[in-house]
Amino acid sequence: DSGWYLQGEENRRFEADYARYIGTKYAIGCANGLDALIWIWRAYIEMGVMEVGDEVIVPANTYIATILALTENGLKPILVEPTIETYGIDDSKIEEVITSRTKAICIVHLYGQCAYTEKIGMLCKKYNLKLVEDNAQAHGCLLNGKRTGAIGDAAGHSFYPGKNLGALGDAGAVTTNDSRFAETVRTLANYGSREKYVFKYAGRNSRLDEIQAAILDVKLHHLDEDVQQRKKVAKYYIENIKNPKIVLPKIFDWNQHVFHIFTIRCEERDRLQRYLSDNGIQTNIHYPIPPHKQECYQGWNEIPLPITEMIHATELSLPMSPVMTMEEVKIVVEVINCWR
Ligand SMILES: *Cc1c(COP(=O)(O)O)cnc(C)c1O
Repeated sequence: DSGWYLQGEENRRFEADYARYIGTKYAIGCANGLDALIWIWRAYIEMGVMEVGDEVIVPANTYIATILALTENGLKPILVEPTIETYGIDDSKIEEVITSRTKAICIVHLYGQCAYTEKIGMLCKKYNLKLVEDNAQAHGCLLNGKRTGAIGDAAGHSFYPGKNLGALGDAGAVTTNDSRFAETVRTLANYGSREKYVFKYAGRNSRLDEIQAAILDVKLHHLDEDVQQRKKVAKYYIENIKNPKIVLPKIFDWNQHVFHIFTIRCEERDRLQRYLSDNGIQTNIHYPIPPHKQECYQGWNEIPLPITEMIHATELSLPMSPVMTMEEVKIVVEVINCWR
Protein backbone atom coordinates (compact mmCIF):
# COMPACT_ATOMS: atom_id res chain seq x y z
CA ASP A 1 0.00 0.00 0.00
CA SER A 2 2.81 2.43 0.73
CA GLY A 3 4.24 1.98 -2.80
CA TRP A 4 7.68 2.13 -1.18
CA TYR A 5 9.85 -0.93 -1.87
CA LEU A 6 13.36 -0.14 -0.66
CA GLN A 7 15.05 1.89 2.08
CA GLY A 8 11.90 3.15 3.70
CA GLU A 9 9.97 3.15 6.94
CA GLU A 10 9.92 -0.66 7.30
CA ASN A 11 13.72 -0.87 7.11
CA ARG A 12 14.10 1.91 9.67
CA ARG A 13 11.61 0.30 12.03
CA PHE A 14 13.10 -3.18 11.79
CA GLU A 15 16.65 -1.89 12.16
CA ALA A 16 15.71 0.05 15.28
CA ASP A 17 13.76 -2.86 16.79
CA TYR A 18 16.45 -5.42 15.95
CA ALA A 19 19.23 -3.23 17.39
CA ARG A 20 17.18 -2.81 20.56
CA TYR A 21 16.56 -6.57 20.74
CA ILE A 22 20.22 -7.48 20.24
CA GLY A 23 21.40 -4.64 22.49
CA THR A 24 23.60 -2.71 20.06
CA LYS A 25 23.42 0.92 18.98
CA TYR A 26 23.11 0.02 15.30
CA ALA A 27 21.64 -2.65 13.06
CA ILE A 28 22.07 -2.33 9.31
CA GLY A 29 19.85 -4.44 7.07
CA CYS A 30 21.33 -6.06 3.97
CA ALA A 31 20.52 -8.67 1.33
CA ASN A 32 21.56 -11.87 3.16
CA GLY A 33 23.81 -13.30 5.87
CA LEU A 34 26.80 -13.90 3.63
CA ASP A 35 26.71 -10.26 2.54
CA ALA A 36 26.47 -9.15 6.18
CA LEU A 37 29.77 -10.93 6.86
CA ILE A 38 31.33 -9.69 3.62
CA TRP A 39 30.47 -6.07 4.53
CA ILE A 40 31.96 -6.42 8.01
CA TRP A 41 35.39 -7.36 6.63
CA ARG A 42 35.18 -4.94 3.72
CA ALA A 43 34.33 -2.09 6.10
CA TYR A 44 37.39 -2.86 8.23
CA ILE A 45 39.51 -2.80 5.06
CA GLU A 46 37.98 0.48 3.82
CA MET A 47 38.53 2.01 7.28
CA GLY A 48 42.20 0.99 7.24
CA VAL A 49 41.82 -1.35 10.22
CA MET A 50 42.80 -4.36 8.08
CA GLU A 51 44.39 -4.90 4.70
CA VAL A 52 44.36 -7.58 2.05
CA GLY A 53 46.56 -10.49 3.16
CA ASP A 54 45.82 -10.06 6.88
CA GLU A 55 44.86 -13.11 8.92
CA VAL A 56 41.61 -13.86 10.73
CA ILE A 57 41.23 -16.77 13.14
CA VAL A 58 38.05 -18.80 12.52
CA PRO A 59 36.67 -22.18 13.57
CA ALA A 60 37.37 -24.90 10.99
CA ASN A 61 33.91 -26.41 11.46
CA THR A 62 31.49 -23.81 10.24
CA TYR A 63 29.11 -23.20 7.39
CA ILE A 64 31.16 -22.10 4.39
CA ALA A 65 29.73 -18.55 4.40
CA THR A 66 31.96 -17.63 7.38
CA ILE A 67 35.03 -18.51 5.31
CA LEU A 68 33.77 -17.17 1.97
CA ALA A 69 33.31 -13.70 3.49
CA LEU A 70 37.03 -13.64 4.32
CA THR A 71 38.43 -15.02 1.07
CA GLU A 72 36.10 -12.71 -0.90
CA ASN A 73 37.92 -9.80 0.78
CA GLY A 74 41.43 -11.22 0.31
CA LEU A 75 41.77 -11.97 4.03
CA LYS A 76 43.39 -15.23 5.10
CA PRO A 77 41.28 -17.55 7.27
CA ILE A 78 43.36 -19.38 9.89
CA LEU A 79 41.36 -22.50 10.67
CA VAL A 80 41.28 -23.60 14.31
CA GLU A 81 39.77 -26.83 15.62
CA PRO A 82 36.59 -26.81 17.76
CA THR A 83 36.14 -28.58 21.08
CA ILE A 84 34.23 -31.81 20.85
CA GLU A 85 31.94 -30.80 23.75
CA THR A 86 30.66 -27.51 22.37
CA TYR A 87 31.51 -27.63 18.64
CA GLY A 88 32.68 -24.01 19.17
CA ILE A 89 36.24 -22.83 18.51
CA ASP A 90 38.77 -24.31 20.97
CA ASP A 91 40.13 -21.27 22.82
CA SER A 92 43.22 -23.18 23.98
CA LYS A 93 44.38 -23.47 20.36
CA ILE A 94 44.07 -19.80 19.39
CA GLU A 95 47.13 -18.10 20.91
CA GLU A 96 49.60 -20.43 19.16
CA VAL A 97 48.40 -19.31 15.70
CA ILE A 98 48.43 -15.54 16.37
CA THR A 99 51.03 -13.74 14.20
CA SER A 100 51.87 -10.09 13.47
CA ARG A 101 49.31 -10.26 10.61
CA THR A 102 46.43 -11.51 12.78
CA LYS A 103 43.75 -8.79 12.91
CA ALA A 104 40.65 -10.52 14.23
CA ILE A 105 39.00 -13.56 15.74
CA CYS A 106 35.71 -14.61 14.19
CA ILE A 107 33.56 -16.79 16.42
CA VAL A 108 30.57 -18.74 15.10
CA HIS A 109 27.68 -19.52 17.43
CA LEU A 110 27.24 -22.80 15.62
CA TYR A 111 23.96 -24.72 15.90
CA GLY A 112 22.71 -21.87 18.12
CA GLN A 113 25.21 -22.21 20.96
CA CYS A 114 27.22 -19.24 22.21
CA ALA A 115 30.90 -19.72 21.25
CA TYR A 116 32.33 -16.80 23.26
CA THR A 117 34.66 -17.51 26.16
CA GLU A 118 36.45 -15.13 28.53
CA LYS A 119 39.74 -16.39 27.19
CA ILE A 120 38.78 -15.27 23.67
CA GLY A 121 37.92 -11.81 25.02
CA MET A 122 41.25 -11.71 26.87
CA LEU A 123 43.21 -12.67 23.73
CA CYS A 124 41.46 -9.95 21.70
CA LYS A 125 42.53 -7.36 24.30
CA LYS A 126 46.06 -8.70 24.64
CA TYR A 127 46.78 -8.74 20.89
CA ASN A 128 44.48 -5.84 19.90
CA LEU A 129 42.25 -8.00 17.70
CA LYS A 130 38.72 -7.29 16.52
CA LEU A 131 36.10 -9.78 17.68
CA VAL A 132 33.52 -10.58 15.01
CA GLU A 133 30.52 -12.84 15.61
CA ASP A 134 28.77 -14.97 13.01
CA ASN A 135 25.34 -14.92 14.60
CA ALA A 136 23.49 -16.51 11.67
CA GLN A 137 22.32 -19.44 13.80
CA ALA A 138 21.89 -17.90 17.24
CA HIS A 139 19.25 -15.16 17.28
CA GLY A 140 17.92 -14.94 20.80
CA CYS A 141 20.93 -16.52 22.50
CA LEU A 142 22.00 -14.97 25.83
CA LEU A 143 25.38 -14.82 27.54
CA ASN A 144 25.14 -13.44 31.09
CA GLY A 145 22.22 -11.23 30.08
CA LYS A 146 23.85 -10.04 26.87
CA ARG A 147 22.71 -11.27 23.47
CA THR A 148 25.04 -12.88 20.99
CA GLY A 149 25.50 -10.27 18.29
CA ALA A 150 26.30 -7.68 20.98
CA ILE A 151 29.37 -9.38 22.45
CA GLY A 152 32.01 -8.51 19.84
CA ASP A 153 32.90 -5.43 17.76
CA ALA A 154 30.55 -6.45 14.96
CA ALA A 155 28.21 -9.33 14.13
CA GLY A 156 26.70 -10.75 10.97
CA HIS A 157 23.12 -12.07 11.08
CA SER A 158 21.24 -14.13 8.50
CA PHE A 159 17.46 -14.13 8.12
CA TYR A 160 17.42 -17.01 5.63
CA PRO A 161 13.92 -18.54 5.95
CA GLY A 162 15.13 -21.57 7.92
CA LYS A 163 17.02 -19.57 10.57
CA ASN A 164 15.57 -18.94 14.04
CA LEU A 165 14.46 -15.53 12.78
CA GLY A 166 13.68 -16.01 9.10
CA ALA A 167 12.29 -13.78 6.35
CA LEU A 168 10.15 -14.94 3.41
CA GLY A 169 13.27 -15.01 1.26
CA ASP A 170 16.83 -13.79 1.74
CA ALA A 171 17.77 -11.10 4.26
CA GLY A 172 20.60 -10.24 6.65
CA ALA A 173 21.95 -7.59 9.01
CA VAL A 174 25.10 -6.29 10.68
CA THR A 175 25.05 -5.13 14.30
CA THR A 176 27.66 -2.94 16.01
CA ASN A 177 28.11 -0.12 18.52
CA ASP A 178 30.61 1.76 16.33
CA SER A 179 28.94 4.61 14.44
CA ARG A 180 31.64 5.10 11.78
CA PHE A 181 31.75 1.36 11.13
CA ALA A 182 27.93 1.24 10.88
CA GLU A 183 27.94 4.10 8.38
CA THR A 184 30.62 2.35 6.29
CA VAL A 185 28.63 -0.91 6.19
CA ARG A 186 25.46 0.96 5.23
CA THR A 187 27.26 2.81 2.45
CA LEU A 188 28.95 -0.32 1.05
CA ALA A 189 25.67 -2.24 0.93
CA ASN A 190 24.04 0.61 -1.02
CA TYR A 191 26.41 0.74 -4.03
CA GLY A 192 29.04 2.53 -1.95
CA SER A 193 26.83 5.59 -1.98
CA ARG A 194 25.75 7.78 0.90
CA GLU A 195 24.46 10.64 -1.20
CA LYS A 196 22.40 9.84 -4.29
CA TYR A 197 24.59 9.41 -7.41
CA VAL A 198 27.80 10.04 -5.43
CA PHE A 199 29.94 6.90 -4.93
CA LYS A 200 32.52 6.78 -2.17
CA TYR A 201 33.30 3.04 -2.49
CA ALA A 202 32.97 0.49 -5.26
CA GLY A 203 30.10 -1.17 -3.39
CA ARG A 204 27.27 -3.45 -4.47
CA ASN A 205 23.52 -3.60 -4.34
CA SER A 206 22.91 -5.50 -1.11
CA ARG A 207 19.78 -3.81 0.23
CA LEU A 208 17.07 -5.32 2.41
CA ASP A 209 13.61 -5.29 0.79
CA GLU A 210 10.90 -3.34 2.62
CA ILE A 211 8.56 -6.32 2.47
CA GLN A 212 11.18 -8.54 4.18
CA ALA A 213 11.90 -5.88 6.82
CA ALA A 214 8.16 -5.67 7.55
CA ILE A 215 7.83 -9.46 7.89
CA LEU A 216 10.94 -9.64 10.08
CA ASP A 217 9.69 -6.92 12.38
CA VAL A 218 6.48 -8.87 13.03
CA LYS A 219 8.35 -12.17 13.50
CA LEU A 220 10.91 -10.56 15.82
CA HIS A 221 8.15 -10.16 18.39
CA HIS A 222 7.65 -13.94 18.43
CA LEU A 223 11.33 -14.89 18.49
CA ASP A 224 11.70 -15.43 22.24
CA GLU A 225 8.53 -17.53 22.30
CA ASP A 226 9.84 -19.62 19.36
CA VAL A 227 13.17 -20.10 21.13
CA GLN A 228 11.36 -21.32 24.27
CA GLN A 229 9.52 -23.84 22.12
CA ARG A 230 12.80 -25.06 20.59
CA LYS A 231 14.23 -25.47 24.10
CA LYS A 232 11.24 -27.54 25.12
CA VAL A 233 11.86 -29.91 22.21
CA ALA A 234 15.60 -30.04 22.99
CA LYS A 235 14.96 -30.73 26.66
CA TYR A 236 12.66 -33.62 25.81
CA TYR A 237 15.26 -35.09 23.43
CA ILE A 238 18.04 -34.75 25.99
CA GLU A 239 16.05 -36.24 28.85
CA ASN A 240 14.48 -39.09 26.90
CA ILE A 241 16.85 -40.28 24.19
CA LYS A 242 18.54 -43.28 25.79
CA ASN A 243 20.48 -45.06 23.12
CA PRO A 244 24.14 -45.81 23.94
CA LYS A 245 25.11 -45.37 20.27
CA ILE A 246 24.11 -41.72 20.35
CA VAL A 247 26.04 -38.74 21.73
CA LEU A 248 23.67 -35.95 22.81
CA PRO A 249 24.68 -32.28 22.98
CA LYS A 250 26.22 -31.16 26.29
CA ILE A 251 24.36 -28.16 27.63
CA PHE A 252 26.36 -26.03 30.06
CA ASP A 253 23.85 -23.21 30.32
CA TRP A 254 20.34 -23.28 28.83
CA ASN A 255 20.45 -19.50 28.16
CA GLN A 256 23.46 -20.00 25.90
CA HIS A 257 21.82 -22.32 23.37
CA VAL A 258 18.85 -21.54 21.11
CA PHE A 259 18.83 -24.87 19.25
CA HIS A 260 18.79 -23.63 15.70
CA ILE A 261 19.93 -27.20 15.04
CA PHE A 262 19.64 -30.17 17.38
CA THR A 263 22.90 -32.02 16.85
CA ILE A 264 23.65 -35.59 17.79
CA ARG A 265 26.69 -37.67 16.90
CA CYS A 266 26.74 -41.33 15.96
CA GLU A 267 29.55 -43.57 14.66
CA GLU A 268 27.06 -45.24 12.30
CA ARG A 269 25.49 -41.96 11.24
CA ASP A 270 24.55 -42.99 7.71
CA ARG A 271 22.88 -46.22 8.85
CA LEU A 272 20.95 -44.28 11.53
CA GLN A 273 19.87 -41.68 9.00
CA ARG A 274 18.56 -44.38 6.64
CA TYR A 275 16.72 -46.08 9.52
CA LEU A 276 15.06 -42.81 10.56
CA SER A 277 14.14 -42.02 6.98
CA ASP A 278 12.59 -45.51 6.57
CA ASN A 279 10.50 -44.67 9.63
CA GLY A 280 9.28 -41.39 8.20
CA ILE A 281 11.68 -39.13 10.13
CA GLN A 282 13.61 -36.60 8.11
CA THR A 283 17.06 -35.60 9.30
CA ASN A 284 19.86 -33.43 7.98
CA ILE A 285 23.65 -33.30 8.20
CA HIS A 286 25.29 -30.01 9.22
CA TYR A 287 27.54 -30.38 7.35
CA PRO A 288 28.71 -33.37 5.30
CA ILE A 289 31.97 -31.76 4.06
CA PRO A 290 33.99 -29.20 6.08
CA PRO A 291 35.16 -26.02 4.28
CA HIS A 292 38.82 -27.11 4.07
CA LYS A 293 37.79 -30.28 2.17
CA GLN A 294 35.79 -28.40 -0.46
CA GLU A 295 36.83 -28.19 -4.09
CA CYS A 296 36.75 -24.38 -3.94
CA TYR A 297 39.52 -24.47 -1.28
CA GLN A 298 41.73 -27.12 -2.85
CA GLY A 299 44.90 -25.66 -1.37
CA TRP A 300 43.67 -26.51 2.14
CA ASN A 301 42.49 -30.08 1.50
CA GLU A 302 45.50 -31.59 3.29
CA ILE A 303 45.42 -29.42 6.44
CA PRO A 304 45.07 -31.87 9.35
CA LEU A 305 41.87 -31.04 11.25
CA PRO A 306 40.85 -34.39 12.77
CA ILE A 307 38.24 -33.09 15.24
CA THR A 308 36.50 -31.07 12.56
CA GLU A 309 36.50 -34.06 10.22
CA MET A 310 35.21 -36.38 12.93
CA ILE A 311 32.29 -34.02 13.63
CA HIS A 312 31.43 -33.83 9.96
CA ALA A 313 31.58 -37.63 9.64
CA THR A 314 29.32 -38.34 12.63
CA GLU A 315 26.92 -35.38 12.95
CA LEU A 316 23.18 -35.81 12.46
CA SER A 317 20.51 -33.13 12.98
CA LEU A 318 17.20 -34.29 14.42
CA PRO A 319 13.89 -32.61 13.58
CA MET A 320 13.80 -29.26 15.41
CA SER A 321 11.24 -26.51 14.98
CA PRO A 322 9.03 -24.29 17.13
CA VAL A 323 5.98 -25.73 15.37
CA MET A 324 6.72 -29.39 16.15
CA THR A 325 4.09 -30.96 18.39
CA MET A 326 5.17 -32.90 21.49
CA GLU A 327 3.52 -35.99 19.94
CA GLU A 328 5.91 -35.70 17.00
CA VAL A 329 8.88 -35.24 19.31
CA LYS A 330 7.87 -38.35 21.27
CA ILE A 331 7.70 -40.44 18.10
CA VAL A 332 11.24 -39.36 17.14
CA VAL A 333 12.50 -40.38 20.60
CA GLU A 334 10.73 -43.76 20.55
CA VAL A 335 12.02 -44.62 17.09
CA ILE A 336 15.59 -43.67 18.06
CA ASN A 337 15.44 -45.63 21.32
CA CYS A 338 14.40 -48.75 19.38
CA TRP A 339 17.43 -48.57 17.08
CA ARG A 340 20.08 -51.24 17.57
C1 LIG B 1 23.16 -19.31 7.16
C2 LIG B 1 24.53 -18.97 7.56
C3 LIG B 1 25.25 -17.91 6.97
C4 LIG B 1 24.81 -17.19 5.73
O1 LIG B 1 23.55 -16.73 5.67
P1 LIG B 1 22.75 -16.53 4.29
O2 LIG B 1 21.67 -15.61 4.68
O3 LIG B 1 22.27 -17.89 3.87
O4 LIG B 1 23.68 -15.93 3.30
C5 LIG B 1 26.46 -17.56 7.51
N1 LIG B 1 27.01 -18.24 8.53
C6 LIG B 1 26.38 -19.30 9.10
C7 LIG B 1 27.04 -19.99 10.25
C8 LIG B 1 25.14 -19.70 8.62
O5 LIG B 1 24.53 -20.76 9.19
